[in-house]
Amino acid sequence: MLQGKVALVTGSTSGIGLGCAEALAAAGARVMLHGSRDAASAEALRSDLAARHGVDVRYQQADAAIGDEVRGLVTATETAFGQLDILVNNAGIQHVAPIEAFPLEKWDQIIAINLSAVFHGSRAAIPGMKARAWGRIINIASAHSLVASPFKSAYVSAKHGVLGFTKTAALEVAQHGITVNAICPGYVLTPLVEKQIPDTAKARGITEEQVKRDVLLAAQPTKEFATVEQIGDLTVFLSTSSGAAITGTALPMDGGWTAQ
Ligand code: NAD
Repeated sequence: MLQGKVALVTGSTSGIGLGCAEALAAAGARVMLHGSRDAASAEALRSDLAARHGVDVRYQQADAAIGDEVRGLVTATETAFGQLDILVNNAGIQHVAPIEAFPLEKWDQIIAINLSAVFHGSRAAIPGMKARAWGRIINIASAHSLVASPFKSAYVSAKHGVLGFTKTAALEVAQHGITVNAICPGYVLTPLVEKQIPDTAKARGITEEQVKRDVLLAAQPTKEFATVEQIGDLTVFLSTSSGAAITGTALPMDGGWTAQ
């Protein structure tokens, strides 16, 4: 389905990013994996993905908090594969705390990784996409691009910003064969969510089981977590010609959360 295409997925050594990389490789795309760890420690993951899907898979280390490194990651992808067609801006972090106690460095880090990296990656990728008159930018945003939750001020601000950026970028590149969309998952059981359970329990004074049942899934009418496979499948769909008319959108995958 995506033979001949090259995809870069940021933050793809775990969770949703890995799910997207897996789905794109399964659809025939060549894939650049990215993460903060060194190439040696990501080698088993890279070679396994390449072998199972019979596609060229590479890995590049870069700090998503540093604009130069994110732009360099796009350049490294274009150098390795000769092109970049599908950019999945996925890397993200979370921190849960009341505003008055929110660590200053965490605010800066979340804005840098969850929002500014989307700008830096897109800025670097668009010229090549324009030159080939084809491109897909898929931002893994969040239900928190559409609604808020307490104690997540930086995350909600960054994710609302990603949606604004998505719409703006979509308008700018609409006549160049490039689409830009935001996938807005509800809760997905990945390391990012598992890590915030103890902090949420502490902030709200409840147990970790209560956090899962009464806080996380309380928002999702289906009472089911979204899965990384479902998000990977939507990423592939948006990357096909069937997705060409979908641009500038927020696509919730949240079990009905934001319908309320
Ligand atoms: P995760 O922690 O498994 O994945 C995040 C990835 O980003 C990791 O691979 C991590 O190494 C990478 N990353 C973080 N900071 C980095 C940095 N400075 N440099 C390089 N890489 C860095 O979590 P996830 O749940 O898979 O999150 C992926 C994306 O999905 C995030 O943008 C997150 O906000 C979004 N999201 C997650 C959920 C959920 O419930 N899990 C819901 C909505 C949106």
